[in-house]
Amino acid sequence: MYHELLRDATFWAFLFRIDQGLAEESRAERCPACGCHLHGANYPRKPRGPRGLPAEYRYRLSFCCARDGCRKRVTPPSVRFLGRKVYLGAVVILVSAMRQGPTPRRVRELRELFGVSRRTIYRWRDFWNEHFPKTTFWQLARARLVPVFEIVDFPRSLLEAFVGAGDDRDGWKKLLCFLSPITTTKGLVIEVSDDRDRSAEDARRRF
Ligand SMILES: [Zn+2]
Repeated sequence: MYHELLRDATFWAFLFRIDQGLAEESRAERCPACGCHLHGANYPRKPRGPRGLPAEYRYRLSFCCARDGCRKRVTPPSVRFLGRKVYLGAVVILVSAMRQGPTPRRVRELRELFGVSRRTIYRWRDFWNEHFPKTTFWQLARARLVPVFEIVDFPRSLLEAFVGAGDDRDGWKKLLCFLSPITTTKGLVIEVSDDRDRSAEDARRRF
């Protein structure tokens, strides 16, 4: 089952190492405004969901420009944190996906499994149904995914397409890396520009 993996502390450590790699890439690119080097300036976080999360989950990796007068904030994409949601990306995807499909899990069952409020579950549903398909990220991404598999429901179709068995870490890595552009500062409203095209290109390479 998919949800067994989310109880495994080594899975969360695995995702943290991927985030470290993404952060190193951002740091190597230096400040996008002035080209100066970047300092660590992590955001404190209090993610909810699984118990026994590694201590590294108390912050999201982030940087700011080292130059006085610039100090531009650079937050790398993440496979752990989906935007500003207090739940981890994998939990948001999994809980939402478990409500879809031929034998949907009831809200009560999911609340018992993950301790997520009813209202939160409905908010996630609206996010996947209404908001996500309209993002420029998805508009760009769908062109290369749709010929490969059929999109029926978000996020279930994505989960099934990327993640084979329940403990397929590599599949989770691919899925979360694929979605990681939507976790950056500009959030889910992603405008089409050269920069964003490059993000989509990066996602495709990781995909
Ligand atoms: Zn700068």
